[in-house]
Amino acid sequence: MIEGIYIHIPFCEQICVYCDFHKEIATDKKKKLYINRLIKSIDHLNDDFSELKTIYIGGGTPSNLDNVLLEQLLKTIKVKFDLSKIIEYTIEANPNDITNQKSDLFAKYGINRVSLGVQSFDNQVLSSMNRSHQAEDIEKSIKLLKKAGINNISIDLIFGFNNQTLSQVAYDLEKAISLNIKHISYYALILEEKSIMHYLVKQGKMGVVDEDLDYLMYNKIIDTLKENGYKHYEISNFSLEGYDSMHNVLYWTQKSYLGLGSGAHSYVDDKRFFQSPNVQEYISSSNDQQCREFYPSYPLEDALIFGLRVLEGINVLALEKQFKISLFERYPAILTLIDQGLLLYEDDSIRLSEKGLMLANNVFAALLEEHHA
Ligand code: SF4
Repeated sequence: MIEGIYIHIPFCEQICVYCDFHKEIATDKKKKLYINRLIKSIDHLNDDFSELKTIYIGGGTPSNLDNVLLEQLLKTIKVKFDLSKIIEYTIEANPNDITNQKSDLFAKYGINRVSLGVQSFDNQVLSSMNRSHQAEDIEKSIKLLKKAGINNISIDLIFGFNNQTLSQVAYDLEKAISLNIKHISYYALILEEKSIMHYLVKQGKMGVVDEDLDYLMYNKIIDTLKENGYKHYEISNFSLEGYDSMHNVLYWTQKSYLGLGSGAHSYVDDKRFFQSPNVQEYISSSNDQQCREFYPSYPLEDALIFGLRVLEGINVLALEKQFKISLFERYPAILTLIDQGLLLYEDDSIRLSEKGLMLANNVFAALLEEHHA
């Protein structure tokens, strides 16, 4: 049963230097063709959506669509799905796209959560990132969303960017807390090979934060948010009581979700597949099956890695029952990781320790290496 829908809008106003997502800058004509194709795809869906709980419109930058196109899409979604049963309906937005009309449009069509791409409250950092918004836009956008009745606001922040300092991170935290943001996704910058930043670093035109400072920043984030009532529930995610991201929890717990739009991934009936990331190919295809590619699914590996990303960890007995294995025999590395203090084994559950959180990628690499051995 499909429990979540993801809809991908691959268009952005400008390209941020660190980004390697599936996105492009497009003409109005291309955007229109894309939305028409997406609407056709939604109209033709005939899966069972009686258990649907979440809808997530992401990108790219969905808020960058003009109001006419956006309304056509939102209207199609409203007609197709029974929104009265949807618990969480999120759209990603850039702060500078939020106007009175746009926030009213979100609310009119049942969107009850907005994920704002804030990244930093510091104009100098925002400008080096080549973000399209400025710090002033952030508070303005939050006010407009709240005025439209949308109080469940999540923000994305980044640490470890270029020459970012610990005091700049402290300032971002102070601003986020003072705005009473319900949910914060705080990502460590990863220097992605396909990003503009990778090229700039190679040319010596941009720096990277060193590992020690990176740890200090992550520690500062965890401690400050905890002190201010946020639950640290996933490696990069923090929430006030009752505001965990339900849609992401579906991904982390291997529930079925359907991805629509170019490049969107799905997990349905134990099968994983994605739509062609080539926007033109997606637009030209006559149906989703035509540009769909399947790839292998590793349910045990997913349950292990996604389960460890969530801070409460994995119940060993439940996992062993589900996959009919002995976890420690299948993954002897877990015992080594426990000895090294990277994993904790308590009350039949394994989870990342504080030290393991800082070195999570090493933990996952050790487990994946064993999985593929
Ligand atoms: S970070 Fe977001 S807004 Fe920036 S280029 Fe990537 S998808 Fe677009």
